[in-house]
Formats: sequence, C-alpha cells, structure tokens
Amino acid sequence: MAEDLNPFKIAQQQLDEAAEVMNLDKQAHAILREPMRTLVINIPVRMDSGETKVFTGFRVQYNDARGPVKGGIRFHPQESLDTVKALAAWMTWKTSLANIPYGGAKGGIICDTKSMSEREIEALSRGYIRAIGTFIGPQVDIPAPDVYTTPQIMAWMMDEYSNIVRHNAFGTITGKPLEVWGSEGRNDSTAMGGMYVMREAAKGLGIDLRNAKIAVQGFGNAGMFAYTLSKKLFGSKVVAISDSKGAVYDANGLDLAKLEKAKKESGSVQGYEGGTEMTNEQLLESDVDILIPAAIENQITGSNADKIKAKLVLELANGPVTPDADAILHEKGVLDLPDFLVNSGGVIGSYFEWVQNIGGYYWSADEVYQKLDKIITKSFADTMAVKKEYEAKGSKITPRTAAYIIAIGRVASAMKVRGWY
Ligand code: GLU
Repeated sequence: MAEDLNPFKIAQQQLDEAAEVMNLDKQAHAILREPMRTLVINIPVRMDSGETKVFTGFRVQYNDARGPVKGGIRFHPQESLDTVKALAAWMTWKTSLANIPYGGAKGGIICDTKSMSEREIEALSRGYIRAIGTFIGPQVDIPAPDVYTTPQIMAWMMDEYSNIVRHNAFGTITGKPLEVWGSEGRNDSTAMGGMYVMREAAKGLGIDLRNAKIAVQGFGNAGMFAYTLSKKLFGSKVVAISDSKGAVYDANGLDLAKLEKAKKESGSVQGYEGGTEMTNEQLLESDVDILIPAAIENQITGSNADKIKAKLVLELANGPVTPDADAILHEKGVLDLPDFLVNSGGVIGSYFEWVQNIGGYYWSADEVYQKLDKIITKSFADTMAVKKEYEAKGSKITPRTAAYIIAIGRVASAMKVRGWY
C-alpha cells in the first residue's frame, strides 16, 4: 500500500507510536492528538492591478500547557490546514524537548510570494495580523518566520500588531530585524543549532568533520547557513546543494561566491560554473557522510530511504523524513536525528529574542550562541540517553521516538498538574 503522506496523519502516527512505548495515559493522549484551537481566515488584499484578491490563511495553536504557543508562519502556494496542524504539533514537541517555556503553534498562508510585489506582500502580512490579532500576543501566541517569510515580514507584522494594541509590542513576534529589537544570532540560529547537534553526533559516530562530505537540500535560511557554517566551523566539504529548481554537485566542495553568482544570474544554484547538475532526488541519494535535508516535508520516504548512503541524516527542515523512511533508515543503521531536535535552534533563538524584548536588555551574538549550544547539546544528550535506556529494557527505538518520549512526558505532566486530566 502506498504510504500516506498527509503530514498531520504522520504527526499523529509518530505521537501514537511514542505513546504506546511510553505507556502514556489515554486521556493525555486524546488531548495531544488534536490541536487546541484552529483558525482559518480569508484575507482580502488590494493587488497592484487595483483588483482585490482573497488569500486563505491558517493559525493553529496546538497546546499551551507549558506556556504561550510559539511557531512560525509559512507563505507557500501548496499550504494546507493539515500541514499547518502537523507543524504546530511538531512545534509543541520542539519547545518541550528544548525545555523552553512555550507551547506550540504554526501559521500559513496559501500564496506565491515569487509572483507578488513587495507592497502586496506587506499588505498580505498586515492583513494576516489583523485577522488573528485577537488571538496572539507576547503571553498568548508568538509568531516567527518560516518558509518564504523574512525578518522584514516580521517587522511589518510586529508594527501592525503594535498599531492594534496601541503600544510597541516587540515581544509578540520574533525573528525581527535588529533595528526593531531582533536578537543577535537569530538569523542563523536554526543552522547553528543544527551544527552543534552535528558536532555531537559526529563524535558518537566517529566521523571526522574536517574530512566529512556533506549534502544540503535547500538554499533558504536553514540550508544556506548550514552550508556556510559547516565549512566555517568544521572545515567540512559541502559537495552538493539544491534549491526548488534542482541541485548541483562538485566533488571538491562548492564555493560560496560561485553559488551566489549562479543564484543571482540564473535564479538557481544549478547555474553553478563547473559543477554537475543533479535533481533533488539524486542529491538525497548522493555518496556523502552527512545528509542535511533543509527544505520541506516528505523528502525521504518509503520509496527512496533504502538508497540513502549517508551515515548521519540531520533533519534541519520540518518533517523531511516519513515514518516508513524512518524505519528503513533505522534498520540500515543510519543515524537519523529528528527535526524537532535538529532545527530547534530557530525557536531557541526566538526564545532568547523574546526574553530580551521582555527584559529590555540585549546580549551579544557570542552570548546567544553559547546559551544555544548549552540547551541543544543537552537535548541531544537527553535524547540519546532515553534511546539507550529503552534499549536496555529491550525496546529498540529510533532517536525520534526517544525525543518524543521526553517531549510528550513534559507536556503531559504540565497538563496533569494543571488538572486537565
Ligand atoms: N519556524 C521555526 C521552526 O519551525 C522557528 C519558530 C519560532 O522561532 O517560533 O522552528
């Protein structure tokens, strides 16, 4: 039977699997299977042509037992409510595993920013905030960037929300530009967190990062910084990288200036001078030590998982590996580290930004990175320790299930003491 790739079904399946292994209370399980609140909105936007177009958007607030809900907003032509629900669930596990005082949420708008003007994108961003304004705020729900949303968009959104509440509310949106009190280090904190996890995992696997070959899928905020940071911090060789149009490969390692030139001149990394063109599928299956999917969900599935050659898969995207693929990779002995651990640097960076906004006292980039390293390295160690603990009891679990056990356990205990079940 073909694998069901509905992201929310996948998120529920992952939860169910962990719930069974950890013997989760049935009532807690029932609460955690569905989001606490789902908003569907339709936003009229006056386009440059003078015509009004209606855009559909979503905000899903999954669970707030541990604190205000937190999560990014995606602008994507194929956005769907089920994808946003899944991403909101994953945010809940992400903030819990990192042990930061938040619940989980996610937002999305069905739109193609590549075919919109800057003014249209601004109008859409402000319209989105007007539509969900009653339901967000620094102690309620704190949005942030995600796929195809930027610090500039966060600035417009923060400005719109501040107009609604009639005072500056910097702490209601994170991932802002520095001019309006974004945080030092937030821009690359998703990738930086992934690098700290890579460092720890490589130690365990005996991979020497100085000689390691890496492939990165995606050239957005996560993928681009994963590329530059793995070279800068460890001297690793990134031999393949892709964007939505395709991939490029160079056995000697890709050069940043040439990549940027290709992007600028041809609109894709595929225009790279002297490299070999590849498809996104070929990139995933390329002969590398470490594979970093940093684009979107459902990339490694039951149909290509057995062709993966990497020893370590770092899920810097949200949901890139499906449950069927997870089982196959695990069986093959590939260490596949889950998204809500690997990419948690983004929301940890956001947490620091929010703390600084609330306190009105600002930190240096070094302070931010040091604090990030401490939190994410502990998440990694905790995950591997739980995996070992279950193995000692005779149940072979994946790192994803181990991370779920920790994350679910914390949310369930918070719900319990609050008297929700
Ligand atoms: N969009 C990022 C994520 O998926 C960051 C979320 C945030 O900072 O709230 O984790």
